[in-house]
Amino acid sequence: MREKLVAGNWKMHGSLAENKALLDALVPQLASLKGASCAVCVPYPYLFQAQQALQGANVAWGAQNLSQHEKGAFTGEVSASMLVDFGCKYALVGHSERRALYGEDDATVAAKFVAAQKAGLTPILCVGETLAEREGNITEQVVARQLDAVLAVAGVAGLAKSVVAYEPVWAIGTGKTASPEQAQAVHAFIRAKVAEASADVAAGLVIQYGGSVKAANAAQLFSMPDIDGGLIGGAALSAEEFVAICRAA
Ligand code: 13P
Repeated sequence: MREKLVAGNWKMHGSLAENKALLDALVPQLASLKGASCAVCVPYPYLFQAQQALQGANVAWGAQNLSQHEKGAFTGEVSASMLVDFGCKYALVGHSERRALYGEDDATVAAKFVAAQKAGLTPILCVGETLAEREGNITEQVVARQLDAVLAVAGVAGLAKSVVAYEPVWAIGTGKTASPEQAQAVHAFIRAKVAEASADVAAGLVIQYGGSVKAANAAQLFSMPDIDGGLIGGAALSAEEFVAICRAA
């Protein structure tokens, strides 16, 4: 049985004071979370704060990005081993904002996925189509291309040690959630695609949904057979919302 995972992606939000209030609220409320695990992906400067606040708690932490390189003259970049130094369990790779705003192509995302795994992190691979792609009926082609790029370098054995997050770009930060049926259809497609390489890996793969998940719609989304939790943006900045979403998983 797959254990659901709810991860918060704080994006570029927070301050030492705001994070303290949020983390101090999450720790006790999520201490007795049953049947699901949870994590927060925080901005780099706050990884130390997350590590201090969450050590020994029932909430894992991670980063929102990493470099594909191990070390070297890459000004402004952060390596996988640096994230490991701060106790990260997860690193998001290929978030649509990275792809769209920072020019990360499929090959770069795949290289980041491999770099994360090599250092012992669990990559959360984000995939998803834009509105134009959905309206052009190429959602499956886009998601397949994004997955294939990673399968080509990491293999299905690599995918086995990762999490996939399906995040339709048109649902991110827009308040427009994919319907549970729309999301389920793509999740089932992803699982079937992975099953072509390995039925076992496909059966065990955690596939999160992301895009305007809130306390009010989480339970319905998470009740679908191939939706194994969520990657939460805006609602992860409120302890009340995030805890409710974790409890819905
Ligand atoms: P929202 O939940 O704010 O739509 O963001 C989703 C997301 O991008 C999580 O990575």
